[in-house]
Order: sequence, then structure tokens, then C-alpha cells
Amino acid sequence: MAELLLTGVEKAYGEVKVLKNIDLDIKTGELIVFVGPSGCGKSTLLRMIAGLERITGGDFSIDGVRMNDVPPAQRGIAMVFQSYALYPHMTVRDNMAFALKIAKKPQAEIDAAIDKAARILQLTPYLDRLPKALSGGQRQRVAIGRSIVRDPKVYLFDEPLSNLDAALRVATRIEIAQLKEQMPNSTMIYVTHDQVEAMTLASRIVVLAGGGIAQVGTPLELYERPENEFVAQFIGSPAMNLTPGEVVETGAETVIKLANGGMARSHVPTQAADKGRQVKLGVRPEDLVETTGDAIFEGSVEITEALGEVTLLYLAKDAEGQQVIAKLPGIRPELRHQTVRLGASPAKVHLFANGRSLLYR
Ligand code: ADP
Ligand code: MG
Repeated sequence: MAELLLTGVEKAYGEVKVLKNIDLDIKTGELIVFVGPSGCGKSTLLRMIAGLERITGGDFSIDGVRMNDVPPAQRGIAMVFQSYALYPHMTVRDNMAFALKIAKKPQAEIDAAIDKAARILQLTPYLDRLPKALSGGQRQRVAIGRSIVRDPKVYLFDEPLSNLDAALRVATRIEIAQLKEQMPNSTMIYVTHDQVEAMTLASRIVVLAGGGIAQVGTPLELYERPENEFVAQFIGSPAMNLTPGEVVETGAETVIKLANGGMARSHVPTQAADKGRQVKLGVRPEDLVETTGDAIFEGSVEITEALGEVTLLYLAKDAEGQQVIAKLPGIRPELRHQTVRLGASPAKVHLFANGRSLLYR
């Protein structure tokens, strides 16, 4: 059991509030991912949960017990850092046993904890090696093993994969997903700026921006139903295209006349009072298709990037200096310098007013 509840949590450094009004209810067994731009307060929030940073406002509890003033060691939390400092002169086994020895646990208990952690992390064959005889990924697993042996209720990870090279990052990401599956009752919070890690690992993602929470939801909720323009553009790569327009027909299907001269239909419902409303229309690059009918975007392709399974098209910037990006299936370098007409299924067309999605009101 480990349910974490944050209510109105804030962090101020002197006069500067870096986090405010953080409300979060994290259930036992969840893997919550904090994402957001650099400097938005991800590490600060994690460190407040760990007890390494004072909470300057609001309440934080674990299983109903207020934690604000409880020292880190008594919170039942283990934190795995980005830079994993293993003791170089100690074997894997001794590295993992260290905290338990300090805590004067009986040897039999230590051995059992290490055996179990080594099995989960597939480190059993390496228990008697020194860290220098391990790969980067194996060392990272030993660092995780040091927290598993303490059997914490909550695991906190702050960008644990960012020191690894690309291939190892993918492999270790999959290992962390498997690790979570073997520990269904432990709660994990994982900080990353890597979208793919967030999308693949999270049971729910918390998007942090501007000192607050921009949206909380499952990865696909954030992708399919972003609450605001920030989340719409932060989740998904390349970012969602946004373009201004005016609502000209309302109902279950909304018709938008675009400032760029195009027309679009959206399944986001609108009411009669919305007629004439200024909106921003959003379409993901992967949802744009070539069309001979009404175009949302029409323009000359300036650059093509053939990635193999898809080709990215960068249209010439429009009058407002905006560059539309489309992601078409297959290899399409012949489209360079051609004029393309791009549309989208009404189900894939998002609508925002004053920065907020019209789906949420
Ligand atoms: P992230 O992990 O999302 O990149 P951080 O949590 O490290 O961001 O930092 C959030 C903000 O808090 C940043 O603007 C940073 O400059 C500020 N900050 C962090 N630590 C301190 C500190 N000790 N004193 C003042 N400001 C700090
Ligand atoms: Mg950080």
C-alpha cells in the first residue's frame, strides 16, 4: 500500500514560487511520470516528496499520514538518481547490502533481500563483480537494486536513463517496465524530459509547466484529448500544428474558416453561441493527409526528411511566420518544391479557444 496525496503543495525559494497549487492523488501500484520543460520544477517536486527539499506550502501524505515534517529515511521512499554513484571498491553484492548493513539487519535477511533483488534485476551472475567490470546499464541496475533491497513503498526516479547512450536507454527503459510489472504493489514516480519514456512507461503522466500542472492523464488521454495548447504541443513529436480560424457552423460537427484561407471540419461539438468565435485549430503532423477536397493547409514543401517509415514535410512559412509540418507514410522526397494540399479527418481536428480545448468546458 502506498497512496500519495498532495494538496495545494507549493515551493518557494524566498520570494520566487517555483511550484504552486499542486494537487495530485497517486494510487498504490501506479507508475506516474512527471514531464515538462527543463526548469519547470520536476526534480523539485520529486525532492519534496522524498523529503530532501522542504515543502513551503500545502500538505503531502502517504497512506493518510502527513509527511511534510517526516525525515526522508522514515518516509518509506527510495530515490534513484541520474548519476548513480556505486562504491567502486565493493562488489555488486556489497554495494546492494551497504544500507542494510548500516541499518544492522540480520545477515540472513540481507542475503534474502539481495537474492530477490538480483533475480528481479537479472544481476545474479554479477553479484561478485566490481562495478568497473559491468556495463553502464548493469551499473544502473545495481543502483536500482540498492533501493529494492530496502523494500520501500515508493520509488522515485529522477531521469535515471539520461546518462546512457541511445540503445542502452531503450533497453533499460524496457527493463524498468518489466521491473514495475514484477512489483505491482509498489508505487513509482519517474521524472523524464523524454516523451517516449513518458508515453511507454506511465500509467498516468503529469505535465508540469509554468509552476503548475498543465494536465494529468493516461498517455493516450494526453495525446488524444489534450486539455490545452501547451499539452497539445508538448506531447507528440513533431509538435501539433496550430492555426487560427473562426467558427462558421456549429453542432456535432463544427466548420471552421481558417485565417490562411482553408476550411476544416472538426468532431469537437460546438453550440449556436460559438458561431463567429475565434479559435485555434490543431492537427498533429501524423494526422495530415494529402487531399483534393477542402485543405486545412496548402503550401510549397520546403524541406523533406525521409525517415524510412515516414517522411516529414516542412511547408514554407505562412504570412504569420508559422511553419506547418506533416508526417506522411512512406518515402516521399519527390514532394520537395511541390505544392501540397493537406486535410485531416474531422475526428483528428482539435479546437482551442483562449489556450483551452473546447472539449473541456
Ligand atoms: P527540472 O527538474 O524540471 O528541470 P528543477 O526542479 O530542477 O527543474 O528547478 C525548478 C526551478 O527551481 C528552476 O527554475 C530552478 O532554477 C529553481 N531552483 C531549483 N533549486 C533552487 C534553489 N536552491 N534556489 C533557488 N531556485 C532554485
Ligand atoms: Mg531535473
